Amino acid sequence: MDIKKVVILGGGVLGSQIAYQSAFSGLQTIIYDISDKAISNANNKIATYPNQYKHDIKATDEQIAKASKHLSFTTSLKSAITAADVIVEAVPERIDIKESTFKKLMPYIGDKTLLLTNSSTLIPSQLINFVPNKDRFMAMHFANLIWLHNVAELMWAPGTPQATIDDAEDFAKKIHMIPIFIKKEISGYVMNSIFLPMINAALSLWANGFADPISIDKNWMVSMGVDRGPFGFLDIMGLNTAFNIEMEFYKNSKDSNYKKIANKLAEYVEANRLGVATGEGFYHY
Ligand code: NAD
Repeated sequence: MDIKKVVILGGGVLGSQIAYQSAFSGLQTIIYDISDKAISNANNKIATYPNQYKHDIKATDEQIAKASKHLSFTTSLKSAITAADVIVEAVPERIDIKESTFKKLMPYIGDKTLLLTNSSTLIPSQLINFVPNKDRFMAMHFANLIWLHNVAELMWAPGTPQATIDDAEDFAKKIHMIPIFIKKEISGYVMNSIFLPMINAALSLWANGFADPISIDKNWMVSMGVDRGPFGFLDIMGLNTAFNIEMEFYKNSKDSNYKKIANKLAEYVEANRLGVATGEGFYHY
């Protein structure tokens, strides 16, 4: 697939990372966001990436300079979408926002434009009816810190043409992701289907007073031979996001244990201890 223009809808936590990775990989990339304030927030996040790329993947000054030349920002949906080859949707995880965003693309999107959603929990079949070019739509789910954790989980609704899946795979490889194919739609893909039950088990041990976060992490890290435990991951994910997820689990299951966990997380959220983003969560940064 010939890719001359990539557009990321939403320059938040993940959108800013996907955009930077795409620009770093040599593709002309535009971040669209809803306001100047949102663009400024995206810029602030992106300003931190060069040092992280240099530290984590030994990026050179030349590569960093090239990345910034390939990246631009706009609040004009029309100028962003016109002549785009690939669009990655990374707006907030709310179906009403996804719906209105997809519907707004209608007047500008080309028939051949590949449209990808980065939704973590909504499957393509839930979104496809909002999408203008259904044959060119599927999901590509990234992991946080994508330059390091460089997988792209690929998932599509029944009937999606093979050419669309092939093009998504091609784009994933062009931005140095390892494509992982999900054979049937599942909320959570592979990664979160494994990761979230583990996180929930750790949170439940804490919320029910069996062990404290640091001990739980230490146990997991030593036993599994890894350098980060579930509470370390929670600090990266953001405790506000963790709170939302637990409340969603509670709403869907009515299992009071989720509410108990959410109440404990709420104490951290109210104290603005959101994790890495605010300098303090379960750990200090
Ligand atoms: P975020 O809240 O950090 O960013 C969302 C961005 O979308 C903001 O910049 C916001 O201004 C913008 N936006 C665009 N249109 C909008 C509208 N109509 N209303 C409000 N905001 C609008 O969210 P995020 O964590 O980057 O998540 C984005 C998507 O990526 C979600 O679907 C999420 O499930 C997925 N995702 C997140 C993570 C993660 O670790 N945070 C990991 C994988 C996937």
